[in-house]
Amino acid sequence: MVPEVGIEPTRTHRPRDFKSLASACSATPALEAAPGFEPGNNGFADRRLTTWLCRQHLSLFISNLNIISSYLIKYRNMSYFFVDSHIHLDMKIFDSDREFVIKESIENGVKYLLNVGYDYESSLNSHKLSKTYEFIYASLGFHPHDAKNFKDKHLNEFEKFIKDNKKVVAIGEIGLDYYRNLSPKETQIEVFEKQIEFSKEINLPIIIHERDSFWDTVEILKKYKGKIRGVFHCFGGDISKLKEVINLGFYLGIGGTITYPKNNILRETVIRAPIERILLETDAPYLPPQNFRGKRNEPKFLIYTAEYLAKLFNISMEKLSEITNKNFSELFKISF
Ligand SMILES: [Zn+2]
Ligand SMILES: [Zn+2]
Repeated sequence: MVPEVGIEPTRTHRPRDFKSLASACSATPALEAAPGFEPGNNGFADRRLTTWLCRQHLSLFISNLNIISSYLIKYRNMSYFFVDSHIHLDMKIFDSDREFVIKESIENGVKYLLNVGYDYESSLNSHKLSKTYEFIYASLGFHPHDAKNFKDKHLNEFEKFIKDNKKVVAIGEIGLDYYRNLSPKETQIEVFEKQIEFSKEINLPIIIHERDSFWDTVEILKKYKGKIRGVFHCFGGDISKLKEVINLGFYLGIGGTITYPKNNILRETVIRAPIERILLETDAPYLPPQNFRGKRNEPKFLIYTAEYLAKLFNISMEKLSEITNKNFSELFKISF
């Protein structure tokens, strides 16, 4: 049965906090209550307005912080944990507070992270991050956007990293992106195939990125059916696409987009997917869950997606953690 979709993600788990969080996030100070406000005069040219607005926004900001931290605090002593199977912690946007973001992730129960490369530099940085932090794993690869910068020598470099570092567990993200076509289509296909061949040789799973290119992606993967394994990260398809992914023996990476109100098709598809094929991901700093849209995504926000998914499948958070962690372990051959 398909459960009710499009509902608030966390109603069962923490209704009061979420209601107040939502209202705090969307609330703006009531101008009518402000000192010196004159209706019909488009507000007022009074310095008191600025002071008043600043105070109101500051108190809203503080209450937001309190609500978010009180919401997350319940996960700090939980007996189970989650894994973020797709994140870009090496990006510049995390330069000022990377340590803090990682610390918060761990404290909030997102205890293992797979950092995913998209070009040479980010793959090198993924490799380095996984050497620095015990609980961070790495994936190396050229994203279709960056396919135009790919050279064969990069695979030799990747091979060296892999020999040197057991925590490089995947090749990716690789694939096709016809939505933006930042590399010519032919180049994307060529570089995708070269990286698939490489993953086959070194026997590592692949992390697929596809956008508006699903059927071409599947056509290529079918040539390697049974010889490669992997995940369609940020899966966004319908039932026909789900069937192809399952037939290929691949997994589905599910992230914050499942919580978006307009994403009914994805919810209706995911609920029909075998849960043994689902991995959780943030794709941070991109695609935050609904409550944080417009903000930088962070690994700790994986909890929101997890809660949403647990509700969708009508299972406990413990069960979801147990299943998705096992899926992650099986695909990437990691034992926790
Ligand atoms: Zn991607
Ligand atoms: Zn990504």
